[in-house]
This record gives sequence, C-alpha cells and structure tokens, in this order.
Amino acid sequence: MKPIEIIGGGVAGLSLGIALRTRGVPVTLREAATYPRHRLCGEFINGVSQATLDKLGVAPFLHDAGQEQRTRWWREDRLLLERHLVRPARTLSRWRMDARLADGFKQLGGDLRVAERAEPSGGEGCVRATGRRHHRGSDWMGLKAHFTGVGGVDGLEMHLGEGGYVGLAAVEDGRVNVCGLFHRRQGLAGKGAGKLLAYLEACGLTNLVNRLQAADADERSLTGVSGVVFGKQTGGGFSIGDAERIIPPFTGNGMSMAFEAAECALDPLVAWAGGDLAWPEAEALASRAMEKRFSARMHWARALQGLLMKKAGRQLLDGLAAPGLIPFAYLNRRLT
Ligand SMILES: Cc1cc2nc3c(=O)[nH]c(=O)nc-3n(C[C@H](O)[C@H](O)[C@H](O)COP(=O)(O)OP(=O)(O)OC[C@H]3O[C@@H](n4cnc5c(N)ncnc54)[C@H](O)[C@@H]3O)c2cc1C
Repeated sequence: MKPIEIIGGGVAGLSLGIALRTRGVPVTLREAATYPRHRLCGEFINGVSQATLDKLGVAPFLHDAGQEQRTRWWREDRLLLERHLVRPARTLSRWRMDARLADGFKQLGGDLRVAERAEPSGGEGCVRATGRRHHRGSDWMGLKAHFTGVGGVDGLEMHLGEGGYVGLAAVEDGRVNVCGLFHRRQGLAGKGAGKLLAYLEACGLTNLVNRLQAADADERSLTGVSGVVFGKQTGGGFSIGDAERIIPPFTGNGMSMAFEAAECALDPLVAWAGGDLAWPEAEALASRAMEKRFSARMHWARALQGLLMKKAGRQLLDGLAAPGLIPFAYLNRRLT
C-alpha cells in the first residue's frame, strides 16, 4: 500500500488517520500543536450518524460523551424556545477527545509527529486537514473558556445577542464550555475569561454574564481565533474538514462535517493507496461526495446566520417564537 501524509491533527485528520490505519494504509500525520490542548469549539457534536462513526472506527473514543437531547435558545435575556434535537448531540471537550483520537491513531500504528508545522504539498498522497485559516478581511472572531459551578445548565444553550452569539454545553468533570462567535469590537476591557464576559455584556447578554461571574473560569482553557470566513475555503489540494469548507458554528455541525469529510475521503484514498485509482480521480471523487453532502446545509446555515446577526431577524424570530411557529425540527434536519 502507498503511504498517505495528513497535515493537521484535529477531528478530520485524526479520524481519517484512524480509518486508514484500520484498513492497513501507512499514515504519517503532522500536527503543529501537542496533545492534550484546548481548542476553540462549542464542544457539542450535532448531527453525525452512528454509521459514520462506526465506519471511521472512532465510536469507542466517544463512548462516554454526554448526550444532550434538549436545546434552549435566548434572544438577549428572553427565552425564545425550548425544543428537542432531531438526534441527541454528543458533548465532550476537545482537550479530551483529540488526545484520545491521537492515542488511538498511534496504537493503530500511525506515525504521529507532534509540534511539527508543515506546509501541505498539494501533491500526490498528501491530505490537508489544517482547519480554519486566518483571513485578514474578516471581522469574525471566536472566544471560548471552560467554567465550573455554572448554575441552571440543563441541555444545550444558545444565546443570541447584538453582534454575536454564544453556546453553552456541559462537558466532563462538571465543566461547562462557553464558546461564542462575535463581530470584533474595539476597546473592550477585560483580560482572559474577562474578555469573553466583556463580549457577552456588549452583546446584551447580561443574565448570562451574571451566571458566569458567579462561576469559576479555567483561565488555561481560554482560546480565541480571529479572521474566520465561512463557506468554501481556498487552500487547494486534497482538503477535508474546515480546510475544505466551514459551516457557521450555531449549527454545532462543524465536527460532524469533519467526521463526514473523512468518511467521504476514505474509500477514494484506500483505492489510491492500493493502486486502483489515480490521485486526481481520488481527489475528484472525495470532492464530489463532500459537495453532495454539504452544499445544501451550508446554504441554509449561512442564510440563517445572516438572519440571526440582524436585529430585524432576531425580532422576527421573537415574533415567531411566541405562537410556537419556528419550524425547529425542520431546520435542525436541514442544518445537519
Ligand atoms: C466559535 C466556534 C464554535 C464552534 N462550535 C462548534 C460546536 O459546538 N460543534 C461543532 O461540531 N463544531 C463547532 N465549531 C467548528 C469545529 O470546531 C470545526 O468545524 C472542527 O474543529 C473542524 O475540524 P478540523 O479537523 O477540520 O480542524 P481543527 O479541529 O481546527 O484541526 C486542525 C488541526 O490542524 C493543525 N494545523 C493547522 N495548520 C497546520 C500545519 N501547517 N501543520 C500541522 N498542523 C497544522 C492545528 O493545530 C489543528 O490541530 C465551532 C467553530 C467556531 C469558530
């Protein structure tokens, strides 16, 4: 079997690496960071099917993930809706999940090189799984931190505010992950988790700020990114996960898409490694499979995020929520 090199050891790269090793393909994976490490993410996995996790061989690594069936949405400090998800979402910190996947990959004989930043060659045998890139022209930024002792968390929470939104998910060890996407603001005071609270306050999420101020922030878990751009990415080469396209995070579907992208890439890569397919054909097959799976949900997610970020859009949501007219289950299916 011909060897495959994967650049980037997040959800997409590690799950692809595990699936390839299970099929006997030699794999080297280069990751810029070390494990465990915190990663900017809402830490709930919404949408991925058991069949996808089984095909990749990653289901055992999620065996003790939390299962959340319910979600509640607020507009500023007003509860808008409380519904069941179409499929329960899995909750697990990236600190724990990525380290487990990395160990699993090594135990299967994968060659894991950590603290090694590499430039994907774009050539034969190389898969780009490097996640999101910084785009100077974008003012979207994300911040996340773990808190302990947060009162009132029951199911997934989504809080919509002026210029941003934030999700809360209970992960392991009594921790609650608080992760938001915001339009960048100048001159906000606050350092560490205080910066996250300053953004929440600026968005008008005062009740949430009060709840978090009464809790303990784990400052080491604070992570942030800036310059995020949604939709198709332009890295080139054989790309999967966020390196290929990025869905708005309110869907909680980004990690699911990373797993699904690994699944789309798997059979073409195994065929290439076995000498049954040329590289350009393998790349084209994977790319078509991802387009077929993701294009409709990406379209819905971008349109809805546009609506949620406008005051008029949130007012419309408010108006529809009171008489129970938000087609939540329909949208949940379109977005996953
Ligand atoms: C604010 C926000 C909240 C989110 N919340 C959720 C959520 O609740 N649920 C959900 O499912 N998704 C969420 N997402 C999306 C989710 O985090 C991503 O879709 C997912 O992590 C993509 O996985 P990936 O493997 O493609 O990339 P990543 O997980 O980003 O992994 C990429 C890896 O590549 C490494 N790397 C990068 N460049 C190089 C290089 N040159 N050489 C070597 N290594 C390199 C990085 O260190 C990293 O480990 C959120 C995103 C944002 C912005």
